[in-house]
Formats: sequence, structure tokens, C-alpha cells
Amino acid sequence: MTTSLKSCDVLVLGGGPAGSSIGAMLAEKGWRVDVWEKDPHPRFHIGESLLPHTLPYLKQLGVLEQIERIGLQKFGAELVSPYHDEPVTLYFSGAMDKFHPYAFQVRRSEFDEILLRNCEKKGAHIREGFEAKSVDFSDSALATIYGTNAEGTGIRQQARYVVDATGRQTFLANQLHAKQRNLQHNSVSVFGHFEDVVRHEGNEEGNLTICWFEHGWFWIIPLPDGVTSVGMVCWPSYLKSRKGSLDEFFWETVKGSLAMTARLKKAKSIMPIVATGNYSYQSSVMTGSQYMLVGDAFSFIDPILSSGVHLALHGGIRGAEVVDAYLHGHAQAGQKARDFESAVKHGLKTYSWFIYRMTQPAFRNLAMAPKNWFRMHEAISSVLSGDVFGTTPVKLPILLFKGFYYLMAVLDLKANLVQYRRRKYAIDGESVAS
Ligand SMILES: Cc1cc2nc3c(=O)[nH]c(=O)nc-3n(C[C@H](O)[C@H](O)[C@H](O)COP(=O)(O)OP(=O)(O)OC[C@H]3O[C@@H](n4cnc5c(N)ncnc54)[C@H](O)[C@@H]3O)c2cc1C
Repeated sequence: MTTSLKSCDVLVLGGGPAGSSIGAMLAEKGWRVDVWEKDPHPRFHIGESLLPHTLPYLKQLGVLEQIERIGLQKFGAELVSPYHDEPVTLYFSGAMDKFHPYAFQVRRSEFDEILLRNCEKKGAHIREGFEAKSVDFSDSALATIYGTNAEGTGIRQQARYVVDATGRQTFLANQLHAKQRNLQHNSVSVFGHFEDVVRHEGNEEGNLTICWFEHGWFWIIPLPDGVTSVGMVCWPSYLKSRKGSLDEFFWETVKGSLAMTARLKKAKSIMPIVATGNYSYQSSVMTGSQYMLVGDAFSFIDPILSSGVHLALHGGIRGAEVVDAYLHGHAQAGQKARDFESAVKHGLKTYSWFIYRMTQPAFRNLAMAPKNWFRMHEAISSVLSGDVFGTTPVKLPILLFKGFYYLMAVLDLKANLVQYRRRKYAIDGESVAS
């Protein structure tokens, strides 16, 4: 038996940051918005470190004060390298735009719930436990979405516009056979939540720590209630090399890093260690007159720059303008969609350049000895702050930084080539295997 629901203007699939933000913006504009979210909130989600330039989005959505109450202030990112004597902290206050000196570390269960309830408050109809299974676009006026509710009953609903915000489930990209593996990057992660991880003091307590090791890097994200999120990101081949359980593998890898051992010497795991894999992809389509893919549903590269929530909220807020134009039948809707697509791709491209090089010795050496020549350091701090969609003049200093990077790579050619080949082998080997 299938239950038909009243049709709506916009059906948003997924109630994470992308879905809740686009749903809130469109409901506020007066459209009838329904949101299907398969997992009732609050629910666990990884991705707890926010960026300073995300805060204006939260303000625009009307939730900044609530997020301030559940977040731990993060003033910068500490970089720890086994190849360098001292850690280095990059502070957001060092960015070109001095008005965004901090962000927050948040528990995603709380953060996502605030966003979803806000979306409901703005007038969207939230349907938790509803999972989208398929979509039919054969009628150019109304799409039909099929799914199930929490009781497993078949559900059908028609909508003038469908927003896919299903995150790494990539519902529409799968349906449209548009999901493309990222041939330049591939990594997996292993993570958990812990008590009694050693913290820094004062203003440094909430800082993110990135700690490189031979096969990748670790993150340490202190959460407000004393719990700490710790994870490692590595090549898939390293994960595949494990002999014992995931727990043993995680702790063995921690033991291989002096810095991580010092921080986790008394740490106790408070949830089972989890592994996620194969998460670098992009869809070949993003917008159409009846659908849009936002946030991770469109693309995901890697967590190292903590850019996922920022990109999801940017996509949700800006994407709402495009959907609004399509629903109004505005002649410029197509142009708005193209502008939106290039903004989203610009953000992804900006981050990708850094992500692809994070494990190269030349990159690490530059990061561990930051210099503000030609405002390079300020520009890098701006990118780390999420200042990639505004008018801050980061372009030239970033270009110079890239020039320095290539120069450093040439000066230490052997080490950089070895690492480049390892990386390429890890990616190509995985493509062949999958
Ligand atoms: C290991 C790791 C660490 C990360 N660390 C960070 C970090 O520190 N900072 C950061 O900003 N980002 C981080 N990210 C990325 C971040 O988690 C995502 O980019 C962000 O959550 C994207 O938001 P979204 O709304 O697009 O998707 P999601 O947050 O994944 O939301 C998608 C929602 O859709 C629902 N859904 C899925 N399928 C269906 C369906 N068929 N029907 C209905 N509902 C469905 C899901 O239940 C989910 O609630 C990390 C990612 C990984 C993998």
C-alpha cells in the first residue's frame, strides 16, 4: 500500500545542514516546503569543526545565538608534524578580514537538530523517518518522489521542485547516474569520541589539532562537554593493511605518533570506533529546472579543512535563490543557476588545491614555517576561515603561495616525488580495485 501526501512546492530530501538551510530559506519566502529526513533528529553525525565565515550564514538563518550556546570557541588550527620540532598554530585573527576571529566546535547531533527545528519554525513540514527511494521526472510540471515512512509504509509525494540534500548517500546523483569518482583524491577515515583527551588551556582549548603521521593525518576536535572527537584520515591501502579489529588498528596508529600518544595517554573511547571510506566524488549535474543537488549530495572531497558544513550552508542559502527563481518562472532562473554552480565549484576548487597537497613535504614545510610575504599567510588563513566566496583579495597572495609551493617541491624534488607517487599509487590502486 502506498500513501499519497499532499503535493508541495519544494520537497527537500535530507535534513542535514544543506537541507535544513535551503528548506528554511524557501519556507521563509512563502513556499510550501516539505523535508524528508530518514533518521529522526537528534542523530549522530561526524563533521564537528566549523569555520568563522560560517557564522554569518548561521546568523542569516536566525540560529547563531543557539549555536553559540552549544559550541566551544575555536580560534585557530594547531598543526603538528613529526618532521618538525615545534607545533604551529594558525589563528583566524591572522586572516585578511579581521572581523571573523573564531568559529565553534559543535556536537553535530545538537547542531543539526537546531537547524532542522529552525527550518520547521520557518514553516517547512518536517517528516522524520521518511526515506526517499526513487524519483520520477517524466512530468515536467511535477516530480513524483517515492519512499517509505518510519513504519515502512510506501509514501508518494509530488513537488514542483526537488532538492537533494541527502549528503553522502547521493540519492539523485545515483538515480541520474551522475556520480563521478574523484580521480585526484581518495581517503578513508577512522574515528570516535573519547573522554580524558589532554586539552590545551584557555583560549587554545577549542582549537582544532591536525597531526600528520606517515600514512595521513589525525584530527583532534574538543567538544564543549569534555568529550573529544578524534579521527584519522589515511589512504585506503593503509586501512586495508590492518590485521586486527578497527579499535586495535586505531590505537596502533595512535601509538606510532608521539604527539597523539601524549594527547591520548588517558583517553577512553565512549563510542565504537567507526570507519568511512571512498568519499571523494562529484556529480556531473548540479541544477535543473526541477531539481538541485546541494552540500555533500553534490560533492565531497576530504575533511581536512573543515569545509563541509560551510559549503553545505553556502549551497543551501544561495541555492534557495535559484529555486525561488525557478518557482516564480523568472526568465533569469537559468542564469542564476549557472552563477550558483560556478560559485559552488569555485569553493570546491579552492579547497581541492590545498587538500590534494596536504601530505606533500613541500606543503608541510611551508605550513610549518608560515611567512607573511606578500600577505601569503593572511590569505591562507582567510581560506582556512572559509573566506572563499566574498570579495577579500586573496587571489594574488594565494597564487604566490602556489608558486612558492612548486619552488619548494622542485628544491626537494626527491622527497616530493616519492610522496607524489605514493599518493598516486594509493588513488589509482583503489580505482582499479573498486
Ligand atoms: C570523517 C569526516 C569528518 C568530517 N569533518 C568535518 C568537519 O570537521 N567540519 C566540517 O565542516 N565538515 C566535516 N565533514 C563533512 C561534513 O560532515 C559534511 O560536509 C556535512 O555534513 C554536509 O552536510 P549535508 O547537509 O550536505 O549532508 P549531511 O549532513 O550528511 O545530511 C544529509 C542528511 O540526509 C539524510 N538522508 C540520507 N539519505 C536520505 C534519503 N534517501 N531520504 C531522506 N533522507 C536521507 C541523512 O540521514 C542526513 O541527515 C567531515 C566528513 C567526514 C566524512
